[in-house]
Amino acid sequence: MNGALRAPHVVAFSYRRSVGGADRRFLSGLAEAEIWGSRAADGRVLVPPLDHDPETGATTEEFVRLGEVGVVRAWTWMAEPGPEHPRERAFAYALVELDDADTALLHVVDVDNESEMSTGMRVRADWRSVRVGSILDIRAFVPLTAVRPVSGTGRRAGRGTIPRGEASVSVEVVADIHLEYMYEPGLVASAFLRSIAERRITGGRCSSCGGVYVPARSRCPACRVGPMAEVELDDRGVITSYTVVHVPFDGMTLELPFVSAWVRLDGADVSIPHLLGEVPPEEVRVGQRVEAVWMPNDELAPTWESIRYFRPTGSAPEPEDTAATCDG
Ligand SMILES: [Zn+2]
Repeated sequence: MNGALRAPHVVAFSYRRSVGGADRRFLSGLAEAEIWGSRAADGRVLVPPLDHDPETGATTEEFVRLGEVGVVRAWTWMAEPGPEHPRERAFAYALVELDDADTALLHVVDVDNESEMSTGMRVRADWRSVRVGSILDIRAFVPLTAVRPVSGTGRRAGRGTIPRGEASVSVEVVADIHLEYMYEPGLVASAFLRSIAERRITGGRCSSCGGVYVPARSRCPACRVGPMAEVELDDRGVITSYTVVHVPFDGMTLELPFVSAWVRLDGADVSIPHLLGEVPPEEVRVGQRVEAVWMPNDELAPTWESIRYFRPTGSAPEPEDTAATCDG
């Protein structure tokens, strides 16, 4: 039983944000099957539109509506798309410079085969029938010859400009964040987690200042001396700080309200965070003595969740600082 533990971790959440300025013009335009850019003071047309000219920092002058036909300036073939890609089968990512634009936008070019791609090829936007104000309202760009013939002046007739600041519908963007990674806590924290799986709590004592840290660190945070000597601690201690949680959050498995507390175990010089149980939130006090309530022995594992929560032991709150045992 040594070496570092490993565990898969997932961080996932969604958040909404509203966008303004050029982003709002661009996204609300896409919902109407229109592509908008912005014109800089020197006349260059930037697509997607920007609020500020990246070269001068000056505010761009007006929004410009463009056609949906352009030219591929650069591309790369995605032979094996992953779950993060907008298509399931092979496709090209390309920088597409729309006619009358001076910058290129990144998008998908939908062709069956890499051999159909070339720099300089002409493409047009292929729109989804249901659009929501997203860059993916353009399903993909497709070779100009492969779809219905362009009516030529049809889209051009719809072109125009509007001054900056003219109100357009507000656009909300929902971003789904999903991060998967392997977590390796390191050798010292792994030893701590293994002790938890044996219903023990271990810490480390600094050979220089005598400070006791739970969990142990590889070196003393105060004097940077290491390694620390392992010490075993009781699973009892005192509340040093707490928070009553009333606000729900995604993925929550507890009933509201619940209490999150910092507990300084007897013999330790730092506090550890955990949940409190078997006590109404309004009766929690700093200085209250608590003890760990463990999972059943056959459910113990190298995780902090092997302690279900801490609960008051019934003893009266302690006078301040009687639990500190710094030998240094
Ligand atoms: Zn130290």
